[in-house]
Order: sequence, then structure tokens, then C-alpha cells
Amino acid sequence: MSDILRLTNVSKEYPRSGTALRDISFEMRKGEFVFLVGHSGAGKSTLLKLLSMAERPTTGELRISGFSSLSIKPRELPILRRRLGIVFQDFQLLTDRNVLDNLKFVLGATGWNDKKLIEQRAMNCLQLVGIEKKAKDFPHQLSGGEQQRVSIARALLNKPTLILADEPTGNLDPATSKEIMELLLAVAKEENTAILMATHDM
Ligand code: ADP
Repeated sequence: MSDILRLTNVSKEYPRSGTALRDISFEMRKGEFVFLVGHSGAGKSTLLKLLSMAERPTTGELRISGFSSLSIKPRELPILRRRLGIVFQDFQLLTDRNVLDNLKFVLGATGWNDKKLIEQRAMNCLQLVGIEKKAKDFPHQLSGGEQQRVSIARALLNKPTLILADEPTGNLDPATSKEIMELLLAVAKEENTAILMATHDM
């Protein structure tokens, strides 16, 4: 079976605040677009942290991109993270460098070393999200929607099988949110990337 993600009876308890997730089971297939909807405090961020293995389930098993939460080793975490693209509500771009350098930095940090290939891949991803003209701009010179496009480009760099998007439209006005949603849908289709998008916005 071509599941890229499978949770089996996963629960997560935090020492002081108690149960954040109780007995969650679901799977995702290649290219699927899934919404994770719930009010603030429902456990969406916790679930995303489990998926990137920033946190481990208290009970149950998570299998993702060939790794299991029961057996993954610390040295394997960077390999898993490279297979995931992550998009945040607050973009998390590096403010001290331009858009292109933001992307090049990530490629350098994830094992790319051929300068020409780095430049090509970064520009390709900017084109995919329609923002290549802003390559030399700094994040503060961009609108919120443009910054989110850059962060989606960054998530695509290593051709992830799965993009985790945590409230990616949370800081955007309704019209820009719609554009970003359409972009994510188009990307999922064109790149055959699965997307799990957390939102409190029904
Ligand atoms: P959401 O993203 O849907 O708003 P969260 O996953 O952030 O929900 O929170 C779910 C529950 O887990 C909340 O009760 C929250 O207080 C608790 N929680 C989240 N992160 C932590 C943490 N690092 N330590 C302790 N409790 C936490």
C-alpha cells in the first residue's frame, strides 16, 4: 500500500496539561489534500509536531515516509525532515537575506553543495509559486501573501512527499487566503505532493 502517513491509536499526553490527543488513527495517500480542522486548543499543532517527530506519541504508532515513531533514530530525523515540507502561519523567513538566499540557505543546510544546481532549484521553486520576480527582494519588502508564497517555495525545495501547513492563511486577509489556498491545491496536483493543512477556519 502506498500510504505516506499512518497513525495507529496515537495518543499524546503532556506532563502538566494532560491529554492533547486521544486514540487517533488515520492514513494519507500520495497526492492527497487533507484538512485538519478544529478550534484553538483542539490539538492540531500537537499532531503536526508528532508528524515531524518534534514530539513522540505517548502511546500508539506513527509511520511516516518510511519511518516509525517506535524505532526512528536521532540521526534519521534530518532525513525525515528533508522529506517533509513545512509551511507556518508566520512564514518564518530569515529577515537578513533576500528571497533567493532564503531558499539557497535551506538547500545548503539540507546537503546540496553544487552552486549551479542550488541556484536552479531555488529559482524553479520560486517560479512554481509565481514569485520569481521578487527573488532579490528582502522579506520585509513583500506583502503577507508574497511571503507565504516564498515559504511555500521553500517547502517545495526538496520535493517533499508531504507538506505540513499549520494555519498557512492565519495571518492573511480573505482574498489573499483564497489565493494561497488555490496555490496549495495547484501545487499538490502538479507536484503530486500530499498536503495536510491545519486550520481553525471552517
Ligand atoms: P491547536 O494547535 O489545535 O490550537 P495544540 O496542539 O496547540 O492545539 O494544543 C492542544 C492541547 O495541548 C492544549 O490543551 C495545550 O495547552 C496543550 N499543549 C500543547 N503544547 C504543549 C506543550 N508543549 N506542553 C504542554 N501542553 C501543551
